[in-house]
Amino acid sequence: MRVLIYSDIHANWEALQAVHEATAGRYDASVCLGDVVGYGANPNEAVAWVRATTPDVIRGNHDRACAGLHGLEWFNQSAATAARWTHARLEEGATDWLNALPAGPVRWHELSLVHGSPLNEDEYLIDPAQAAGVFAATTEASHWFGHTHVQGGFALADDQVIVLGDARPEADSEGGHTVLQLQPGARYLLNPGSVGQPRDGDWRAAFALLDEEAGRVEFHRIPYDLSSAQARILEAGLPPQLARRLAKGK
Ligand code: ZN
Repeated sequence: MRVLIYSDIHANWEALQAVHEATAGRYDASVCLGDVVGYGANPNEAVAWVRATTPDVIRGNHDRACAGLHGLEWFNQSAATAARWTHARLEEGATDWLNALPAGPVRWHELSLVHGSPLNEDEYLIDPAQAAGVFAATTEASHWFGHTHVQGGFALADDQVIVLGDARPEADSEGGHTVLQLQPGARYLLNPGSVGQPRDGDWRAAFALLDEEAGRVEFHRIPYDLSSAQARILEAGLPPQLARRLAKGK
């Protein structure tokens, strides 16, 4: 089965549309690792697309915050402002759907799906020492996570944790992707990157395609209509830095 794995859309409609167009007909199932809303200007459209295409969605911290205003004390000012803005504009059905999303980790086929870390849904998995702790505390061969907005993740092979941060395609390779061939006996913590607000220095929308039988992961980056997404944020009266950071991928 070919699986589209994506995360951290953050109500960026232009980025989500680019992913939609780039992946049409290329997958049999899709899973979403959370943060459908928050920061961007099109929360209802993002929720509608994810609901229509992806039965299995894990909740993110921004989904919780925007739907129920839980956990705002952990947010910086612009994130909290965006969460309140989103909360006020979410349609009732969208709010109910967000509130009902399950916390990770959730088992899906042979995969473990989570927003932050398998040990704590709100933890940012950033460094190899954290990854080593997760590998030691769990038994699954593959976890998929989001939350950091950094494409790649970690592998455990021969008791060594390897950072897969170089998994990203080159910034100038339009529509390009890199391939990770999963090795028997190795274990993985994999991050598809963020669709709508990348923070790994590459502004392009990120997602991953997994071929389960072949054990093959493609990490994709694709350009999207950045200026339109920025204009919508500014027109909505959301904090301007949320528009600026999209161009930097930070
Ligand atoms: Zn996020």
